[in-house]
Amino acid sequence: MRRNIVAGNWKMNELFPQADDLVNSIAEELHNYDTADVDVVVCPPFPYLELVSDVSEDGDFFTGAQNVSKFENGAYTGEVSATMLKSLGVDYCIVGHSERRKYFGETNQDIAQKIDRLLNEDITPIMCVGESLEERESGKYLEVIRTQIQEGIFHLSADDMQRCVIAYEPVWAIGTGHTASKEQAQEVHAFIRSLICEKYNDDVAQEVSILYGGSCNAKNAKDLFAMEDIDGGLIGGASLKSKDFIEIACSF
Ligand code: PEP
Repeated sequence: MRRNIVAGNWKMNELFPQADDLVNSIAEELHNYDTADVDVVVCPPFPYLELVSDVSEDGDFFTGAQNVSKFENGAYTGEVSATMLKSLGVDYCIVGHSERRKYFGETNQDIAQKIDRLLNEDITPIMCVGESLEERESGKYLEVIRTQIQEGIFHLSADDMQRCVIAYEPVWAIGTGHTASKEQAQEVHAFIRSLICEKYNDDVAQEVSILYGGSCNAKNAKDLFAMEDIDGGLIGGASLKSKDFIEIACSF
């Protein structure tokens, strides 16, 4: 059965001393709560992965990266391979975040290759999909999501599909304070699950955790996570405050 997951995406924030404080305070806070029914994941920038991975060894959380190279290894200056992430103890990796699609030209085909690299190393991909405001207002948002999913992840076998996590992150909700309503989010989550069911079968669809991301915070998380097809959240801004982040993780 699918897991509840709350993953914090620190993006390109915090210097090393603040990152050190933040991850240690997340670890301390987590000791005060029962989070047996949720996987908490912390996704810092690359230079802090070892730090987070070390702290997570004694903590009740997992380490995640924010990106991975689509290439295996070798002469790709500036890239970080899935093998390298694995050697640092990384368990999860975000792929296809809208900021990577927008600022770094990442395509669905790139994302498909990255997912393959991660699965080869037994790292769980958190694949992001989501529509722009224009696409939502034009009423074409479900078609946008369908294409992202079909091109980015439907090349996988049924077994591999069940090893992945999908995050629905409407671009208009990311970092804007305009959260999707629980009904808007549920509609898209149910749609994504129905696509998985059509392509594979209902058993596979029921195994895949689908997270919501986009201005999710300690106030709105409970309502969102109570929806049938919302299995947790990918949290940006609110993951930089340990109390808020843990409150979100305890919102099931
Ligand atoms: C994100 O960038 O993945 C995200 C969800 O950001 P925020 O929570 O700040 O909207």
